[in-house]
Amino acid sequence: MLKLYNTLSKTKEEFAPINPGKASMYTCGPTVYDFIHIGNIRTFVTPDVLRRYLEYLGYEVRQIKNVTDVGHLTNDDLDQGDTGEDKIEKKAKKEHKTPEEIARFYEGIFKETEKEMNILPANYFPRASAHIQEMIKLIQGLLEKGYAYEKNGNVFFDVTKFPEYGKLSGNTLENLKVGARLEEHPDKKNPWDFALWLKAPANHIMKWDSPWSVGYPGWHIECSAMSMQYLGDTIDIHTGGEDNIFPHHEAEIAQSECYSGAKFVNYWIHTRHLLADGEKMSKSKGNFYTLSDIKEKGYSPMDLRMAILSAHYRSQMNFTWTAMDQAEANLTALNNFYARLLDHKITGSDKLSNMTTGKYRKDFEKAIDDDLNTPKALSVVFEFASDANKLMDENLLGNPGKAKKLLEIFARILGLKLEVIEIPKEIKALAEERKVARENKDFRKSDELRDAIDKLGYIIEDTRNNNYIIKPARRGGKK
Ligand code: AMP
Ligand code: ZN
Repeated sequence: MLKLYNTLSKTKEEFAPINPGKASMYTCGPTVYDFIHIGNIRTFVTPDVLRRYLEYLGYEVRQIKNVTDVGHLTNDDLDQGDTGEDKIEKKAKKEHKTPEEIARFYEGIFKETEKEMNILPANYFPRASAHIQEMIKLIQGLLEKGYAYEKNGNVFFDVTKFPEYGKLSGNTLENLKVGARLEEHPDKKNPWDFALWLKAPANHIMKWDSPWSVGYPGWHIECSAMSMQYLGDTIDIHTGGEDNIFPHHEAEIAQSECYSGAKFVNYWIHTRHLLADGEKMSKSKGNFYTLSDIKEKGYSPMDLRMAILSAHYRSQMNFTWTAMDQAEANLTALNNFYARLLDHKITGSDKLSNMTTGKYRKDFEKAIDDDLNTPKALSVVFEFASDANKLMDENLLGNPGKAKKLLEIFARILGLKLEVIEIPKEIKALAEERKVARENKDFRKSDELRDAIDKLGYIIEDTRNNNYIIKPARRGGKK
């Protein structure tokens, strides 16, 4: 039974979908003004594992991931994030490009990165700039119902009209009044209100006609508009990084629920930040690594995925190269196990009974059922690999096909692409020659052959009954 930690209730809740057998999921996507960094990647891996697991359980998942190409302003760590320049416009001016060129370029990089990370593509990636009319309609509705007000071409959401404001983040009106760094805007009734539409200054490039002014939407309204358009008024799951909880998701709830009168989201899932040197990795701070940086150091995208999965998505994760080394070693071990299973000849007895494979599978499911505990699930996979490897050492794995299938299921849920590295015939022949030398107790020759294999980039490991495993030498860790 799948349980998910819901930021709304602050408890783990059993997942119960709105429509049996179906799951709707909205994932807050990237703001496309820079390269996506590995912190963003972490936040996109979480819903990917959730989606893969739901699909494994038989759900039909519909996932929408938006592309923010307008309205995300530079001061997003300040209160409501309604001031500053548009992030995309700022970059466009700096690089003497159009905002559209910037947005399309980084959107392309984002999709390419997701593909390399083996993140399943969302069913649809709507762009904010293509949904301005839907946002206008929503703002109009909020004005008509009295939840919003207009002044000098700017429209704001009146937080005092929604008593439930703060239910997600704890930033209730009372708390905001005493604690928050609230920004003043001459047209706001109260500093805790947030922008739905802003009148564009003369030099602003991205602007649209609206009933109130030539302007642009506030950042939060896009996700309400696109979530409702593609998934309906109430959806099962909404995901994002922890910094999205406030103000972004709090504002989404207020706008959406006041507009539709229905609950907006049943399960709110937030991934904790990835830190670099103890600080939040962020595009604006510039302290970030991209997937290219990771690859330049000799690691693969799957090494990174393994590192991400090795920490629970709600636990703080500090990025280090040591963790990457560990992840690479773990992935290599799994790949070697996979290669060995593919190569393993069917032998007489089979000690890996149906019951045992069933146990690994149950333990794995139990781990993911517990709020997507991927580190725990990985430990089950390694236990399984270690047990099956031992059986192969002793020629007791009679049915490698069964073990292979199980490993493939685990890898598919975790989104790890297994890679079988073919051992060249020449190396295999040297290893066989060495086996004979060892049988004849010719240890000098056996050592010479080991060195020869080593020089060709492979490692030979002896196991029981004079069996052996050949592995490619490790790839990464160049630094
Ligand atoms: P952005 O492109 O800035 O809108 O961010 C895209 C997603 O990545 C959002 O859901 C953010 O919450 C998330 N995010 C940003 N920085 C980090 C970080 N250091 N660790 C994890 N997630 C992050
Ligand atoms: Zn969003």
